[in-house]
Amino acid sequence: MPVAPHDRRQTPLRVGGLIHKESLHGLIVRHAFGKVYPNLNAKPSMYDAIVLGLGGMGSAAVMHLADRGKRVLGLEQFTLAHDRGSSHGNTRMIRQAYYEDPAYVPLVLRAYELWMELENNAEEQLLMRTGGLMVGRMESELVQGSLRSAREHNLKHELLEANEIVRRFPATAPRQNDVAVFEEPAGILFPEACIRAHVQRAQSKGAELRFQTEAKSWEATPIGVAVTTADGERFEAEQLVICAGAWLANVASDLNLPLRVERNVMHWFQPRVHPDVFGPPKLPVYIVDHNQKFMLYGFPSLGGTGLKAAFHHSEIYTTPQELDRTVSENEVEAVRQTLADWMPAAAGKHVASVACMYTLTPDLHFLIGRHPHEANVWLAGGFSGHGFKFCSVVGEIIADLIIEGVSFHDIRLFDPARFVDHWT
Ligand SMILES: Cc1cc2nc3c(=O)[nH]c(=O)nc-3n(C[C@H](O)[C@H](O)[C@H](O)COP(=O)(O)OP(=O)(O)OC[C@H]3O[C@@H](n4cnc5c(N)ncnc54)[C@H](O)[C@@H]3O)c2cc1C
Repeated sequence: MPVAPHDRRQTPLRVGGLIHKESLHGLIVRHAFGKVYPNLNAKPSMYDAIVLGLGGMGSAAVMHLADRGKRVLGLEQFTLAHDRGSSHGNTRMIRQAYYEDPAYVPLVLRAYELWMELENNAEEQLLMRTGGLMVGRMESELVQGSLRSAREHNLKHELLEANEIVRRFPATAPRQNDVAVFEEPAGILFPEACIRAHVQRAQSKGAELRFQTEAKSWEATPIGVAVTTADGERFEAEQLVICAGAWLANVASDLNLPLRVERNVMHWFQPRVHPDVFGPPKLPVYIVDHNQKFMLYGFPSLGGTGLKAAFHHSEIYTTPQELDRTVSENEVEAVRQTLADWMPAAAGKHVASVACMYTLTPDLHFLIGRHPHEANVWLAGGFSGHGFKFCSVVGEIIADLIIEGVSFHDIRLFDPARFVDHWT
């Protein structure tokens, strides 16, 4: 139910339908439309900010907040760099000529800078440049969208015809009418290493991070927010950032956010010929739109694990609690056949398959901004299956929002207010 402008309510509940009417320090908490009425007798918060969820986005957020001198607490229900959410599976693609919308280009350029800066101080490699191919017919959304972004933002790129694609990347078998946008800076992020690097740097700057600590509920207080864990511990802070990935709809259940969790499976195959022709620079990262139901994307061979390939989207909707992690033979075969059509010798013995979750917004653009009813609560979610490359810059955006109240990045595309009709 939308809050009327003059509706002052007692602060409610949050996660999982729990209702918390008890007020902090025995005080009645009142707020209306983004305004919190502080009680001057209240105790000061222990933290400047609590970050709920330490996956891709949350780990970046704690780092940027700690880097900017904030007292930050991070809470994560699972272990560091776990495989239960959306940020596992060894590799994520990063690319600049963004077919989805040119508005992402300035953000991804800043993300590159931040990844490189992070890598300079990290113990592991985070980013590998392999080049990237966006393959399809000239009129396909993938090719047209990539060209549009490249041209609008003056990005270095090449438009390759089919014979040139196969000449440069001999493992591929493009169709006669295929073209490809090739961009040199595209490549691979190693997501688990990225999360570890953000977490290590956050901790080195004084962030307090608790793993295997599930946040069970949160509520507004006279001076900010309080989060209660499943073990009954209660933490207070001036602000809260919810980076709960596929769990966002539960954690902000009062908002009735129009999010869908989609099951997506990553597959690994052993190539049928010597893997060298499948390694960078002979094979870059790629997305292929052959007008099949879902686009195929994949990575070059990086050694022992084989070639990773997957469909982008599945239209299989689930919840984090009900995610089916068992992968069927049919699913493997569907990807193998599409991969074989693009790279005949790639689709050898099946090595492994792992399920993962996309959190989709209706327009597939991110959701980043202030909670509509709580001035001190921020949401960062709905990354719609293409968010990992942006984690570094999303961390910076969150720190801007918490510290300045606005970001110097243009994030209008991600405004939660576009879902206002869905809010209860
Ligand atoms: C198969 C697959 C392939 C992808 N490929 C790409 C790609 O190539 N390039 C790209 O840019 N993006 C890609 N993405 C998308 C990208 O990985 C996601 O957008 C990104 O990882 C989302 O990060 P997140 O922080 O929102 O979610 P997560 O990393 O899942 O983090 C959310 C965290 O919140 C924690 N949490 C939730 N509720 C609670 C609670 N109550 N208490 C404590 N902790 C809680 C969870 O345990 C989790 O750790 C892919 C995604 C998938 C699934």
